Amino acid sequence: MNHKKLIWQIFPPNLLITFVAMLAVSWYGSASLQKLYIEQLGSALQARAYLIRDRVSQLMADDRLDDLREFCRKSGREALTRITVIDRSGRVMADSNEDVNVMELHNDRPEILDALKGQTGTSIRLSRTLQENMLYVAVPLQWHGGNAGVKGDLASPVSGALRVAVPVTAIERALRNARMKIALGAFVVIFAAALVTLVVSRRISRPLEEMKQCALRYSRGDFSRRMSLHLGGSVSLEVATLAASMDRMAEQLNERIETIVRQRNELEAVFASMAEAVLAVDTDKRVISLNKAAAAIFSVDEKQAPGRLLQEVVRNIDLQRQVKQILANLEPLQDEIILLYGESERFLQTSGVPLHDGSGRNIGVLVVMNDVTRLRRLENVRRDFVANVSHELKTPITSIKGYVETLLDGAMDNREDSARFLKIIVKQTNQLYAIIEDLLSLSRIEKLSENKEVELSIGNLHQILAEAVQTCQMKASEKNIRISLHCPEELRANMNATMLEQAVVNLVVNAIKYSEVESEVIVSAEEKTQDDGIGRVVISVQDFGVGIAKKHLPRLFERFYRSDKARSRKLGGTGLGLSIVKHIAQIHGGDVSVQSQEGQGSRFFISLPVATDQSDSKA
Ligand code: ADP
Repeated sequence: MNHKKLIWQIFPPNLLITFVAMLAVSWYGSASLQKLYIEQLGSALQARAYLIRDRVSQLMADDRLDDLREFCRKSGREALTRITVIDRSGRVMADSNEDVNVMELHNDRPEILDALKGQTGTSIRLSRTLQENMLYVAVPLQWHGGNAGVKGDLASPVSGALRVAVPVTAIERALRNARMKIALGAFVVIFAAALVTLVVSRRISRPLEEMKQCALRYSRGDFSRRMSLHLGGSVSLEVATLAASMDRMAEQLNERIETIVRQRNELEAVFASMAEAVLAVDTDKRVISLNKAAAAIFSVDEKQAPGRLLQEVVRNIDLQRQVKQILANLEPLQDEIILLYGESERFLQTSGVPLHDGSGRNIGVLVVMNDVTRLRRLENVRRDFVANVSHELKTPITSIKGYVETLLDGAMDNREDSARFLKIIVKQTNQLYAIIEDLLSLSRIEKLSENKEVELSIGNLHQILAEAVQTCQMKASEKNIRISLHCPEELRANMNATMLEQAVVNLVVNAIKYSEVESEVIVSAEEKTQDDGIGRVVISVQDFGVGIAKKHLPRLFERFYRSDKARSRKLGGTGLGLSIVKHIAQIHGGDVSVQSQEGQGSRFFISLPVATDQSDSKA
């Protein structure tokens, strides 16, 4: 748009109006002046004509043409006026300046025509005779008798015309002078008017210019300067009111912007600190924003994702489908997506809602995602556990049921068979008992650990290990296995004595179980500084038995995991022993590990934090 400055909208039209007005006034003034001059001169000439008319009429009536001519010449000279006498036919009878004999007929002159009709005639024109601009005034003449010229017609009262004339050159000069003065005056007025207009338009436009600058500052968000303070006291009421209103508007705007910024910051803080991943997408499926949690889950840059297409940011078909569905139905949607990270999976529970702007128009979708991977894993573990427990219990129970039915079906009558079957039933019952015992231990330990109710205290480790060895001595003797103990007498650990003894017993029992007869089991403990520079008390139980294949090692401490199922069952194993050891180690703030080689033996480690005097605590 081509907008002019205010000063250029006020100044030129004002100047034009003044100019036109002055032109009109000057023209009208000078025309009136001219008219007035001519009228006055005309009246003066008429008066002169009337003064000499009677004399001229008399001379004409007496037919004294020579006297008439002399009179005209003399009077004309004295009054600086040309005097001409014309008879009814237009013939010049006398003239003050010219010889009448050379003069043409004057019956076509307008003033003379008027005079011959009995009126006073006036005319301004170039005199053909004198070659000068003249004002002519002619009055009618009446005479009777005599023979000069055409005799007066008695029927007509007009016998001829007396014409007086003066040159108008002087008047024209005077008029020119007057016009010059008027023009000069007009010029001065126009100049003064231009000056005043300029000053006034500047006074109007300057505060508006100030207001414009101020408004521009407001539009840039700078509300530091107030408009009304910069205008001064000379501005008009309207401008001052407008400035005050704009200041009020700016103040409100500033307050609103501050409120919006504060609210946005609060929202951003909430958004960023949310544990749930939040993702907002517009109707074109471009990311509007996402929080830290979402950026971490999808491994994208939180700052670079906005503006990019959802499919570029999150390569997940299900999420795209859900967003599409919400955009289409404009209904909230609860669902789930699975993200793949190489081998592992992450389960996200999604809750999407359509986003609306202030006028209720849909502007996109907001998806909140909850990582339920841990929950899912726990569910799976629980499900697997129930299946495993059922399976573990089913085997001995099926066996017991089978033998009891066989006995009832008649095998009872055979004493030898009955004894054999009953022995098997006892063994299976023991197995059941062992499983239930281990399950109860495990659940008790888990419960204590969850509730952080396990009492830990600093105690002598040697004593605990010696008691554990003592407990297993019977089993070892059955296979003629020697158990040796290597532990500094004074070695202390922060522990729950009963639980730690149970863990060591479990390891030693396994070592005996999976060793050949007449073998050896070494139980040892020492304080070690690990690679990370942290001191640890490490208990180790080593055997030289069957060993464990490498592939089983990672899962060995899982519940019911057995590297050799048949052997474990045969030996009355429950598959829970190592799991209990792992839990006990964890309660102590430690961990378990294993080194083993098939056919050569295994070595299990329980590593505990070093005991300090302040270590008495609840785990
Ligand atoms: P189980 O009651 O079957 O021994 P554990 O949880 O104690 O159950 O042990 C899990 C599995 O680890 C066992 O079934 C066995 O296959 C293997 N295992 C444990 N200790 C040893 C060991 N000292 N030597 C060889 N294999 C072992």
